[in-house]
Amino acid sequence: MNYDVILSEIFAASLALPTNGAIATTIPELATVSPDKFGIHLTTLDGKDFGIGDSNEKFSIQSISKALSVAFAFTFLGEKVWERVGVEPSGNPFNSLVQLEYEKGKPRNPFINAGAIVIADILISNLQNPKKDFLEFVRTLSGNSTIDYNPKVALSEKNTGFRNAALANFLKSFGNIENEVEDVLDFYFHQCAIEMSCKELAHAFYCFANEGKTREGISILTPSQAKRLNAVMQTCGFYDESGEFTYKVGLPGKSGIGGGIVALLPNHFTVATWSPKLNKKGNSELGMHALELLTTKTGLSIF
Ligand code: GLU
Repeated sequence: MNYDVILSEIFAASLALPTNGAIATTIPELATVSPDKFGIHLTTLDGKDFGIGDSNEKFSIQSISKALSVAFAFTFLGEKVWERVGVEPSGNPFNSLVQLEYEKGKPRNPFINAGAIVIADILISNLQNPKKDFLEFVRTLSGNSTIDYNPKVALSEKNTGFRNAALANFLKSFGNIENEVEDVLDFYFHQCAIEMSCKELAHAFYCFANEGKTREGISILTPSQAKRLNAVMQTCGFYDESGEFTYKVGLPGKSGIGGGIVALLPNHFTVATWSPKLNKKGNSELGMHALELLTTKTGLSIF
């Protein structure tokens, strides 16, 4: 497969499509990024790297971090994670409060904000230095020790994250938050404020495509755990557009409102795209186009 040629073709074809997307404004600091950024990076399981456009520029990974935080929790709690968070698609926007009321405080999955906030609480309860340890975990996954939080983005979300504060307090009222709400939100805002490039993301998700082992051969997840997390990404990774993403792209993945998307084909490749203009469901418009073209052109998807 000549991925250099394929990436050039899908890059050009995606840029030529008419777009209506808009940059996220819920976190003011995210709106300072140029909306015209666009990059794609693909890493094959045999270790080859292919990048195009702004694929080496760091951006705010936002909700993509939720796949990494649940993976970290999974490494030490295993199946017990699902006692506090479910694995069902929500069909609701990422920051919705409505289902929590009738689900009695158990979020439907770890990728909606409520679920990720519970995972943040689990990590705080189980780690010595939660923010430092989580960053170390992400650095190990990607094999890159320069990955860091952007404190400006975390502060920007802290100053405007009223809905997440409401979610955390609501979860606490059901007894599904063990720690101080303020500490849980601080961790959550920081995990979302990690900055990575498409290349770094493609490397970090390598272990999900490689039965739980990083590019350096470090075992992070068991093959069964990697399979299960890929299943949750497939069914819940794109907010209330997860069905559409599965229909059009056919790969497990996770998006974030910073405009990033990571997707992977087990035993074949990981791929990350970045374009900050989001569609109405909060997913990167160009990223979705590019990934749809990728699986169409290569004929490679899990289906
Ligand atoms: N930090 C963002 C929030 O909680 C993440 C949203 C996202 O990327 O979907 O609103």
